[in-house]
Amino acid sequence: MKIVVCIKQVPDTKGGVKFNPDGTLDRGAMLAIMNPDDKAGLEAALRLKDEYGAEVTVVTMGLPKAEEVLREALAMGADKGILVTDRVLGGADTWATSTTIAGAIRNLEYDLIITGRQAIDGDTAQVGPQISEHLDIPVISYAQDIKIDGDSVIVQRQYEDRYHVVKAKMPCLITALSELNEPRYMTPGGIFDAYAAEITTWGRADLKDVDDSNLGLKGSPTQIAKASDKVRKGAGEKVTLDPEESVAYIMGKLTEKHII
Ligand SMILES: Cc1cc2nc3c(=O)[nH]c(=O)nc-3n(C[C@H](O)[C@H](O)[C@H](O)COP(=O)(O)OP(=O)(O)OC[C@H]3O[C@@H](n4cnc5c(N)ncnc54)[C@H](O)[C@@H]3O)c2cc1C
Repeated sequence: MKIVVCIKQVPDTKGGVKFNPDGTLDRGAMLAIMNPDDKAGLEAALRLKDEYGAEVTVVTMGLPKAEEVLREALAMGADKGILVTDRVLGGADTWATSTTIAGAIRNLEYDLIITGRQAIDGDTAQVGPQISEHLDIPVISYAQDIKIDGDSVIVQRQYEDRYHVVKAKMPCLITALSELNEPRYMTPGGIFDAYAAEITTWGRADLKDVDDSNLGLKGSPTQIAKASDKVRKGAGEKVTLDPEESVAYIMGKLTEKHII
């Protein structure tokens, strides 16, 4: 079985989001990590490899620095890493990103493609399903469990209060949730081998069946006009009153703000 996992290098937003004065993300000021959903997707692929035998190829599109997440994936147990990087691909929105990644994947053999549900920086959850559309294969999103049954894949698909079991013939694309599993750590031997391993680097010329009009900033129908941190709520007002006074006070405030 051949599995392709799409992984994105994202700024770690746990320590807060930092912005440039023009409103774009200040990626240099934040730690770069493997997107959490993608790490779970990679772990799922590695478990399938352990159970059924598989070749796992990780693909990322980004700046040359994104090679770091490929090496991390190799150190966890992935077999091959492909970095798609080219100046003309910069500024891509989800459409141009998925067009690029699909153009790279068309060069590969695959039974399964695994992406994360969403990236913690863009947060759109569009790229996985878009890749499946470009490649004309089925997609199963929100996977919380993945099993192989002959030439099919059986996926538990998460809902808020229940799950669906969905079966699809391979090739198929699955979008993974970070709750899917607990990703393994890199092994010391794995780290050593990963840093000696060769990463394949592809540019625009290596993308198959894509049109320039769908790539990079120029091929992006969506552009980020501005991004900002959430507006913080004020500290609020603290008053100490007995129950009857409290009711009158709250009613007064609601009337004052024309809420009632
Ligand atoms: C704050 C902010 C808001 C944005 N809003 C929009 C928007 O509304 N519309 C829009 O078109 N673009 C938007 N973008 C741009 C968007 O982030 C990029 O197009 C990005 O390359 C892909 O979208 P995503 O991060 O939302 O990915 P998602 O669709 O959330 O990612 C899903 C999965 O696709 C795979 N994937 C995504 N990108 C890559 C990659 N570069 N390499 C490998 N695998 C990948 C990963 O497996 C990932 O888990 C926004 C960016 C930012 C920073």
